Amino acid sequence: MNQTIYLDNAATTKTDPRVVEAMLPYFTEHYGNPSSVYEFSTPCKQAIGAVRETIAKSLGAKPGEIYFTAGGTESDNWAIKATAEAYASKGKHIITSKIEHHAVLHTCEYLEKRGFEVTYVDVDENGIVKVDELKRAIRPDTILISVMFANNEIGTIEPIKEIGQIAKDNGILFHTDAVQAYGHLPIHVDEYHIDMLSSSAHKLNGPKGIGFLYIRTGLKTRSFIHGGAQERKRRGGTENVPGIVGYGKAVELAMASMEEREEKERGLRDYLIGRVMAEVPFVRLNGHRSQRLSNNANFAFQFIEGESLLIMLDGSGICGSSGSACTSGSLDPSHVLLAIGLPHEIAHGSLRLTVSPDNTREEMDLVVDRIKEIVKKLRDMSPLYEDFMRNQ
Ligand code: PLP
Repeated sequence: MNQTIYLDNAATTKTDPRVVEAMLPYFTEHYGNPSSVYEFSTPCKQAIGAVRETIAKSLGAKPGEIYFTAGGTESDNWAIKATAEAYASKGKHIITSKIEHHAVLHTCEYLEKRGFEVTYVDVDENGIVKVDELKRAIRPDTILISVMFANNEIGTIEPIKEIGQIAKDNGILFHTDAVQAYGHLPIHVDEYHIDMLSSSAHKLNGPKGIGFLYIRTGLKTRSFIHGGAQERKRRGGTENVPGIVGYGKAVELAMASMEEREEKERGLRDYLIGRVMAEVPFVRLNGHRSQRLSNNANFAFQFIEGESLLIMLDGSGICGSSGSACTSGSLDPSHVLLAIGLPHEIAHGSLRLTVSPDNTREEMDLVVDRIKEIVKKLRDMSPLYEDFMRNQ
């Protein structure tokens, strides 16, 4: 078996050993239920409070505006469904974009079946939401705009400040799915006029199964998980104390090293992109060239199937993705690549590689060399490529 070269950090990241170390005592030593009254549970309560403060500070929010959830999907569901329910008497129209994660898109589809109307705004060829179209979509009954901070497939960073301002000017709530952005980009909820924000720890070297939803004070929102009085009666269920502690540590580390990490990632990513674009014919870089997450490279290779490329890369120990992890395994091309205008046959040939600061330039070289070999092999077997070359 080859050594693994992990280039799928948008799907999930390695839990930092310092995060694991911070979590361990909350399994074996401080294992009390934070809701219990005895002293034994006090460290658990205190730890949760401290993490709430760390996260709030990182966003310019108040600790009481942070609600722990089981991850990005739950936070997106909560933000959208609870807003829809709480504001239904004002209106039943929601605006989102065509390139959101399925946690947002499928939640919107669920609401459409229950009497809500949703406008899915287009993006341009780089994946930037068409702000004029979004403005034109606003109606007197629009209650929510939900646009992601940065896209998980092509890495494009959206004009969140501008969209937040538009929402604010029109008295509409603004939710952003910041699962790929939080911990990677500086975010301030007031500066960006964000009313609700979703995040997930496993995208920033924290543990899986823990996330938060930021909810601005004063918003009408409903309990999402009914049960006990946890999370100010809005999200029942015994808190995931080790997860919360791990999240806090991951946030601390991410905030302290953001610039340095981004710089290292950008160096590796640009080197990878540079070599692929220069050395592989008939390839396109998907996503915005500069308004882009520092770890993301997304290519479309003409005349090949991304799935075949992925499987052959896997054979060499290289982990990538052809679209989001949630859609790989399905033969439908990615909705994001179709939304940026790629024809089906080109969207099928896509490969997402997302680096981390743990990767090296030597790994990038190995990966590019392997991509070149595989792409050539697959094209040599492709009747489409043969036809194309014959007609050249
Ligand atoms: N939103 C975005 C943009 C994502 O990339 C993901 C995960 O890939 C999610 C939501 C879902 O997050 P989680 O895996 O924590 O449920």
